[in-house]
Amino acid sequence: MPIKVVKFGGSSLADAEHFKQVAQIIRSDPARRYVVPSAPGKRIKEDTKVTDMLYRCYELIRAREPREAIDRLYGQITDRYNGIIAELGLSFDLSGELEYVKNAMLHASGRDYAASRGEYLNALILAKYLKFDFIDAENIIYFKDDGTLDEEKTNDAVAAELSQHTHAVIPGFYGVMPNGTIKTFSRGGSDITGSIVARAAKADLYENWTDVSGFMMADPRIVKDPCIIQEITYRELRELSYMGATVLHEDAVFPVRTAGIPINIRNTNRPDDPGTMIVAHPSGFDTEKVITGIAGKKGFSVLTIEKDMMNSEIGFGRKVLEVFEENGISFEHLPSGIDTMSVVVATSALEGRRDRLMQSVARMVRPDSVFIEDGLALVAVVGRGMIKAKGTAARVCDALARADINIRMIDQGSSELNIIVGVSEDEYEDAVNAIYGEFVK
Ligand code: ASP
Repeated sequence: MPIKVVKFGGSSLADAEHFKQVAQIIRSDPARRYVVPSAPGKRIKEDTKVTDMLYRCYELIRAREPREAIDRLYGQITDRYNGIIAELGLSFDLSGELEYVKNAMLHASGRDYAASRGEYLNALILAKYLKFDFIDAENIIYFKDDGTLDEEKTNDAVAAELSQHTHAVIPGFYGVMPNGTIKTFSRGGSDITGSIVARAAKADLYENWTDVSGFMMADPRIVKDPCIIQEITYRELRELSYMGATVLHEDAVFPVRTAGIPINIRNTNRPDDPGTMIVAHPSGFDTEKVITGIAGKKGFSVLTIEKDMMNSEIGFGRKVLEVFEENGISFEHLPSGIDTMSVVVATSALEGRRDRLMQSVARMVRPDSVFIEDGLALVAVVGRGMIKAKGTAARVCDALARADINIRMIDQGSSELNIIVGVSEDEYEDAVNAIYGEFVK
């Protein structure tokens, strides 16, 4: 019998109505046997996620704010859970758990413990509602002393535990440290838990249910109604995520990728939409589709070094990069000419280090000139289709030229999976639209 691990994000479990939709989705496919929930998210735009309320509560306690303020906030958290239970018509008393969590928070159980309770409490309710077993992530997800996931120990523990349950709910977002304290992943980390569970369950599919119908080809705040990507490879996804496209936590890819399990991004509010499939190997080669997606970011700077006869000076590049290394700055790109070398970095990484960096470069390589320009945006055009299509870079350049946008940098990875162009920040949105318009008719 096939197994699907299904993870539901916070907006999919924000209130009782959403719990009902989620239950319907789970019941409509018997393969959906292991469920990983997030904490209740926003019901409306102005709402606060339960995770954020828990962080806030922790801060109030730590700052020794008056007890009334803490009680008031914790009361709001309690109301959210009790409201869901009441509206679902469950005869389930969560008050003992809620009281326990509050006491633990008051007795310095830590920031991660506080945040993790959002998922823990939500999973208890969901398990009751679905009549599935509850498995506490604390007993199966292990971190190492350095705070990274203990992958093998976790995989063995999750697999052993799942073999005892045909149907179970496992709270997302947290696990346990070797000393027994609770630790969470970074924000959005329930995606990682889902991926871990999918790997251990040897699932056929990892479904990640959220509030959009998949990965969009471009940022909808920039391009009007962008198309949904039907199928994307893990590598393409990594390129797009790195450049700022987000639907899935970046670290959620690794466990399932190793195991060759595809991820399907789905929309809880539109369960009939097929969503986006993230796969290791695409099912077919669609020659029409040269590009899979466009992503980008503002906030980059370029440090340019000019020196006559640079090309014949052995070790020049190494010395420049050593300066960046010594200053703890990672670089994004290294476009170079015969007598110039440019290093593209995030502007934020230069904060407080500009002068030292310029001086070190001057000392190490004695350039004719060195200067920093800010205000660069990078646009990544990503697609496995580029490998076979000729003229993709020309089309990107042409589209930008027609939109009267100057290209300040261009870089094509030799894997031919992406082309990165650097444009002025104030032309970023126009650049994305121009490229989108060129490739998506
Ligand atoms: N609830 C956590 C957060 O808001 C984790 C998650 O939703 O995946 O970041």
